[in-house]
Amino acid sequence: MSRHDTPPAHLNWSRQYPSNPTVVVAPKTVAELQAVVTGATDYPSPLLAVGSAHSNSGCTVLRGGTAVSLEHFVALREPADGAVVVGAGNHLLDVHRFLAERGLQLPFTPEIGNATLGSVACCCLKDAALGESSGFAVSMIRAIRYVDAAGVDRVVRAGEADFYRFTSTHGLGGIVYEVTLAVQPMQIVSLRYVTSSVHDAGWPSFFARTLADNDGAFGLLDASTGRFVFETRNLTPQRGEPNALERVAGALLQRIFKYFNPIMGVFEGRWWSRLVRLGAYCAFATLGVVFRRGLRNYRNLKPIDYGPPYRFRWDFHFWAFPVAGFVERTLPAFLDFYAAFRRANPRFDERGLLACYRVRHDERTLLSPSHDGDAITLDPVRPMSDDPEITALWDQFCVAYNDFAANHGGRCTFNQTKNLGPGHAEAAFGARWSQFRADRQQRDPEGRFLSPYFARLLGLTDD
Ligand SMILES: Cc1cc2nc3c(=O)[nH]c(=O)nc-3n(C[C@H](O)[C@H](O)[C@H](O)COP(=O)(O)OP(=O)(O)OC[C@H]3O[C@@H](n4cnc5c(N)ncnc54)[C@H](O)[C@@H]3O)c2cc1C
Repeated sequence: MSRHDTPPAHLNWSRQYPSNPTVVVAPKTVAELQAVVTGATDYPSPLLAVGSAHSNSGCTVLRGGTAVSLEHFVALREPADGAVVVGAGNHLLDVHRFLAERGLQLPFTPEIGNATLGSVACCCLKDAALGESSGFAVSMIRAIRYVDAAGVDRVVRAGEADFYRFTSTHGLGGIVYEVTLAVQPMQIVSLRYVTSSVHDAGWPSFFARTLADNDGAFGLLDASTGRFVFETRNLTPQRGEPNALERVAGALLQRIFKYFNPIMGVFEGRWWSRLVRLGAYCAFATLGVVFRRGLRNYRNLKPIDYGPPYRFRWDFHFWAFPVAGFVERTLPAFLDFYAAFRRANPRFDERGLLACYRVRHDERTLLSPSHDGDAITLDPVRPMSDDPEITALWDQFCVAYNDFAANHGGRCTFNQTKNLGPGHAEAAFGARWSQFRADRQQRDPEGRFLSPYFARLLGLTDD
């Protein structure tokens, strides 16, 4: 196994959160991983499993302790019986490529390609619901192998009582080293682009119709102007393979989406920067006309690689709200909150388009943001800025938004929602947060895996 003592601080992907572990270790076998977990003298607590540090919440931060990399757990076994067994250090992108070579795919295909399977197995990753996927990664997980706080090698399978709790442990219940995932034949998805404005009289019926008529729905909202674009996603195998025009348009779109968020915010502070967002809106409207019957592609070939040499950085902030009441109450209240924040802070502008993922009711994992019913996210996005005042304002906005969301039935995640306090977690999950607390205590009474981030959220430390 490779080991580094007092390594240099490393940063998460958005470069906001430096982490300073005392030791970084990369075990190569399960026995070595067990030795790390039981070797508290050589590997000081807390032990934090780190994937590719693409989380933007601070959940990968250590001050002392041991960062455990799963970079050597990258086996990919041949798929069999509708499932594939993969090492926890694989990136989603590696698994997508491996399966695509065999004409197969995962049912869950979020835009991010760099999340590692260890994190996917026990944090609540999301995409818009589609087909078999509720929109949360748990819907594709069949089994998880991990080493618990006592160093015992364990397995938990879908359908077992513990699966519900373990899939929300976020590294506090054990270090995942292998995951079994559902696979299916590659599926063609037909995309359509439809536009509206939240200020139009027809907006409520447009919103309701779009969700009712389509399997998958992903929206982009300009909170300043109210312009709204839905990308609808439907499985349409009967329409055959994508044609040449669709293949070219699909490749172009993938390239544009890779740079979409930096483009939206690139002209920070210029009066004409709003024209960039207007241009994006018009481009989507044009796509809607050109591909009226739908633009077909394979979503499993679309996840994006944000690893090196990709050099842009942005940030986003996840909250999901019940679909019921979203148009009537939550969204108008959010737009009022947003406008008031901007009036009070004239230099603030989130500069991106808010991402709105429709996710389906899913109670298979304890901290599911859609545990109580279908939900839709309102995720502000903004490019990282070198201007400390802009960055501070963005952080302040996220704190204020956390308060707003917690008071409006919002559900957060713990790897994609920033600046959370214990009150936000309590408000979002109520009794389920208490279950999470009790479960963590029972699995790991000595706090071997208790990261500073979760210690603070659980009210166990103040800092
Ligand atoms: C540009 C960008 C786009 C993104 N798009 C999406 C998106 O479309 N959908 C989405 O859901 N997310 C998205 N994310 C967020 C990201 O996918 C998640 O935060 C994910 O958890 C990151 O995976 P990671 O491997 O980098 O985990 P890390 O950030 O390294 O770790 C996250 C958490 O998982 C735990 N963990 C990691 N590995 C293990 C393991 N082996 N065993 C136990 N616990 C472990 C860590 O301790 C930590 O608590 C995006 C992030 C970025 C930067």
